Amino acid sequence: MNATDDKTIVKNYFNSTGFDRWRRIYGDGEVNKVQLDIRNGHQQTVDTVLSWLKADRNLAEISICDAGCGVGSLSIPLAADNAKVYASDISDKMVQEAKDRALETLGQAENPTFAVQDLEALSGSYHTVICLDVLIHYPQEKADEMISHLSSLAQSRVILSFAPKTFALSILKKIGSFFPGPSKATRAYLHREADVVKILEKNGFSVERQSMTRTRFYFSRILEATRK
Ligand code: SAM
Repeated sequence: MNATDDKTIVKNYFNSTGFDRWRRIYGDGEVNKVQLDIRNGHQQTVDTVLSWLKADRNLAEISICDAGCGVGSLSIPLAADNAKVYASDISDKMVQEAKDRALETLGQAENPTFAVQDLEALSGSYHTVICLDVLIHYPQEKADEMISHLSSLAQSRVILSFAPKTFALSILKKIGSFFPGPSKATRAYLHREADVVKILEKNGFSVERQSMTRTRFYFSRILEATRK
């Protein structure tokens, strides 16, 4: 399977069964135990990124590109803290859900702005470019291209999260308990941290802050890289 196929499959998935599944996980309604674990893990990742950005005390002065924004879990709180947020996602269903949630939470539709777009088609220039839990859908070579493109849009900083390729996770994935349930409809790719760091460095960035979210079924390595 080549990377173009991966993209079409991912897009179709997040416009159908994946949309229903992830909208529930990224919500507050009733879910099963595994989904609850993933919901909590993902929230920890979002909270870590929010705490980094807030610690800098300049949110109201910066522009943020949230690439692969999903239902707006990160974009909406960032906009609530007065950052200028440009959110986009390849799935129009996700974007519609994010717009609805933003309007409901923030009471306005100006910020964030939302667009249906493949992250590799994004243009413009942003203080900070963020891409959380998207790379898992793509093999390393494709992820490298995506990271390079996202880096080219970032004036100062890139924040990425990905499922790290560690021995333990590789085993979990092999026995099929990694991302259990209907999400098996898409492949989950693990990425070697050294490969991600290498491609960030090649694009002129160096890792500043890092964190790891680990629950039973959710694993996400978070890297913040700033322009050297
Ligand atoms: N970043 C969000 C978050 O952490 O709440 C959503 C994470 S969700 C697991 C992955 C999202 O990436 C989905 O909404 C999916 O539609 C989007 N996505 C996948 N491939 C993409 C691409 N090539 N360009 C833009 N969005 C993409």
